[in-house]
Amino acid sequence: MIDRRLASESPLGRSHCDSCGQQLKVGDLIPVLSFLLLRGRCRYCSQKISGRLFVCETVNGLTWTLLWLRYGPCVLLWRYLTLFTLLLAISYSDSLSFTVPDSLLVILIIARIVLFQSSDRLPVIFLQAFYLPVFLLAFCFLFCLIRKKQPMGLGDIKLFYVLGCYFSWEKMILLLFLSCLIGIIYCLLSPIKGRSRPFPFVPSIYLAALLTLFFGQQIIAFYLFRFAKLLQARHFLFLKHPVLSALQTVKGK
Ligand SMILES: [Zn+2]
Repeated sequence: MIDRRLASESPLGRSHCDSCGQQLKVGDLIPVLSFLLLRGRCRYCSQKISGRLFVCETVNGLTWTLLWLRYGPCVLLWRYLTLFTLLLAISYSDSLSFTVPDSLLVILIIARIVLFQSSDRLPVIFLQAFYLPVFLLAFCFLFCLIRKKQPMGLGDIKLFYVLGCYFSWEKMILLLFLSCLIGIIYCLLSPIKGRSRPFPFVPSIYLAALLTLFFGQQIIAFYLFRFAKLLQARHFLFLKHPVLSALQTVKGK
C-alpha cells in the first residue's frame, strides 16, 4: 500500500509486478513464503523483487507473534497490532521518501480512541501526549537558531505526539532516548560518506517503541532504584512512583 501511495497509484485493484505489470496470483502473495519460494524474483519476468518487502513482512510477522504471546486475545493486542503495523508502514515510507504520511497518523489516533480500556482517561492521555513534542519543538527551534540546521523533521515530532497517546510520559522519555541511541548506532555503522546525509529516523523509533513496550517498565524501575539509592533517601519522591511501589511490594513478598 505504501509503495502504491509513493507511486501515486490507486489503493484499490489487484496486485501486480512493478517491472512487467503482470497481475499476481494468490500463490505469489503469501507473505515471506512466496519471496523465499520464488528466490526474490518475479515468477513471470524474473526481475528482482525489492528485499525491503521481505524484511517488512518478516519484521511484522515476528512483531505480531511477540504481541500475541505477550497479550493474548484482548483489546491491548488489537491496539498494539494496529500501532506496530502502521508504524512499520511509516518506517517503510520514511526510509524510501523521508515522509511520514499524515493519513496514517490520523488512523493511529482513531485506533487509540476506538481500542480503549475502561480505565483509560482519553482527554488526559491526549493532553499529556503534548509534553514531548512541545519539548522537541523548542529544542529544534533553538538548534535551528544556533546551527542553522534542522535536527529533526516535523513528521517525526508529529509521530512522537501520536506515540504519546499510546505510551505514558515516562515511557516516552525512554522511547526518545532509545530512538536517539539506535539512530546514533545506525549512523556509526553506516559508511563515513553517508553520515552527513539525512537518515530516516522512524525505523529507529519503531525499534525503540518495541523495546519500550516489552522492557520499558523494568528499565524505568531499574533507573529509578539506582537514582534513589544514589541519593540514599528512602522517602525520596521517586519511591512513590507506582512502578516502584509495585516492585517493592513484590520484593517484600
Ligand atoms: Zn514481473
